[in-house]
Amino acid sequence: MQTLKNRLINIEDLIRNTEQQFNRPRQSVSLLAVSKTWPASMLRQLAEAGHQRFGENYLQEALTKIKQCTDLNLEWHFIGPIQSNKTRDIAQYFDWVHTVDRLKIAQRLSNQRPDDLAPLNVCIQVNIDNEATKSGIAANELIPLAAEITQLPHLLLRGLMIIPAKTDNVEQQQASFHKARLLFEQLSTLYPSVDTLSMGMSDDMTLAIAEGSTMVRVGSALFGQRATTHNEGNVN
Ligand SMILES: *Cc1c(COP(=O)(O)O)cnc(C)c1O
Repeated sequence: MQTLKNRLINIEDLIRNTEQQFNRPRQSVSLLAVSKTWPASMLRQLAEAGHQRFGENYLQEALTKIKQCTDLNLEWHFIGPIQSNKTRDIAQYFDWVHTVDRLKIAQRLSNQRPDDLAPLNVCIQVNIDNEATKSGIAANELIPLAAEITQLPHLLLRGLMIIPAKTDNVEQQQASFHKARLLFEQLSTLYPSVDTLSMGMSDDMTLAIAEGSTMVRVGSALFGQRATTHNEGNVN
């Protein structure tokens, strides 16, 4: 059986090879290890292998792990839906948030970010395929929301995040990724802090890299198949 460390090495290799294949600059795509449902001991193994960037969806579960891993100097990314009553802990314990999709949440995160911490890195979630059940703003709301967010003192706008509609149709997936890339380029022209296009998961990461992703969020390909104890309605 493959060890966790071997899977990490294989995924990093896949990312480097895919960058090369599609003429992306070397190291322009980073790996976010999506560790939801997996115990701190597994994060610790990856940290020992040199990996520091972890994504979590469920606040209480994440806080437990963050507290168990304080000695490891990890970088924590919140990638789940955000309710207002969760913003204080997110602002305090996370380094990044990928799922900002309304001004009120952004304002709360900025107000609640402790003064002694660096600004919270944020990506705006765009509902790229206009799915009724999915979080995220419509594409045409991106620039206005970005303009507001860049005024907030304790946030740093880094880019956008998307989860495309679930489909087996490769052309449709490509079209969603490409649309996100155009939005990303538009945003980065307006705001120099924007350098992150968070797109691609275990099943579509190579396609996402081909279309311009700068950060892939990989869970099951790294950790294994999750038990379905959590509601993951925001994912698909
Ligand atoms: C769970 C999750 C992932 C990882 O999904 P896998 O298919 O396991 O790689 C990525 N992004 C978000 C927002 C998620 O909730």
